[in-house]
Amino acid sequence: MSHVLNNFLSENLNELKSQGLYNEIEPVDGPNGAKISVKGSELINLSSNNYLGLATNPELKQIAKEAVDKYGVGAGAVRTINGTLDLHVKLEQKLAEFKGTEAAISYQSGFNCNMAAISAVMDKNDAILSDQLNHASIIDGCRLSRAKIIAFNHSDMDDLRAKAKAATESGQYNKVMVITDGVFSMDGDIAKLPEIVAIAKEFDLITYVDDAHGSGVTGKGKGTVKQFGLEKEIDFQIGTLSKAIGVVGGYVAGKQDLIDWLKVRSRPFLFSTALPPGDVAAITAAVQIIIDSTELHDKLWDNGDYLKAGLAKLGFDIGASETPITPCIIGDEKLTQTFSKRLFEEGVYAKSIVFPTVPKGAGRVRNMPTAAHTKEMLDEAIAAYEKVGKELGVIK
Ligand SMILES: *Cc1c(COP(=O)(O)O)cnc(C)c1O
Repeated sequence: MSHVLNNFLSENLNELKSQGLYNEIEPVDGPNGAKISVKGSELINLSSNNYLGLATNPELKQIAKEAVDKYGVGAGAVRTINGTLDLHVKLEQKLAEFKGTEAAISYQSGFNCNMAAISAVMDKNDAILSDQLNHASIIDGCRLSRAKIIAFNHSDMDDLRAKAKAATESGQYNKVMVITDGVFSMDGDIAKLPEIVAIAKEFDLITYVDDAHGSGVTGKGKGTVKQFGLEKEIDFQIGTLSKAIGVVGGYVAGKQDLIDWLKVRSRPFLFSTALPPGDVAAITAAVQIIIDSTELHDKLWDNGDYLKAGLAKLGFDIGASETPITPCIIGDEKLTQTFSKRLFEEGVYAKSIVFPTVPKGAGRVRNMPTAAHTKEMLDEAIAAYEKVGKELGVIK
């Protein structure tokens, strides 16, 4: 065993622990629903991305079981050998219908979808204009492509326009892409897609929107691109199948030519085993539920509005979210962590998010209400917030 590695690990782990930055993970011992069980205690769960409650939907569980019975537990190969089941083809047709595009391609996760898609199209002779607050998987996907990464200030359209102009007029790059989250998950704000599209048109930029937190949530469930009616304008519509859709996976929806190219050039499609059949069957049915009805969507938004109103009335700073994501901004990092720990003791699971995920001094407890919560659960959570908030002097 390497001494160099041992020293590296023990030094760094000890440093993290001494700074209180080492994250101890508590396993959940049951479904990740509106309530969860951790170490035998029941908690109201305000930390999942299971926006519509589909992760625990009984009908989807049944469909997954039936697919496992018919196809087995694994796809057996990568998509380009013989891992493409008829189930994958059906899923991709359903995703294209869902997103209003010619075609779609699925991947094993949202994270690896960004690894796959960006580097299949962009290379070292290109540039990418990337919102400063983009998700880690977008940042890694950009790095992997070896294109020049030009960050623009968060949702600052003057900055984007100036940088788009400079990049295109420099003549240094073959292609220039603009890339953004559809919904930013730390604050719940929505990307300014109409302005981004206008700038993209002016400078002939490739447009790439990762709507991981938008699908199922914005645009009556159809996502942020749909909300603005821009399905024909955005080149890459990226989504995850692991948040509102409730299972696992990622996808790109776009023009047929783009999808054909990704099928021959995106490396996780070529070199990593296809999504398993039970998951694929459940995902396809979950997307159908979202296409067919806004019932869960409406319940989600109703619950989001209810939680926001309750916390704001108590005097908490809930930021400027435009979606059900409800940050409760505390500020100081230590106080934020103490707040979250006290909520846990009061029966509410709501995670603290601090630097470096958000700027220094902007620590917050982030709440993710879902369609599966009842008003009684939200009332209990609001009561816990009131108790802890007064105790720690965050509210009067
Ligand atoms: C969560 C998230 C991902 C990762 O999706 P997974 O399916 O969990 O891998 C990618 N992009 C964005 C913007 C996300 O919020």
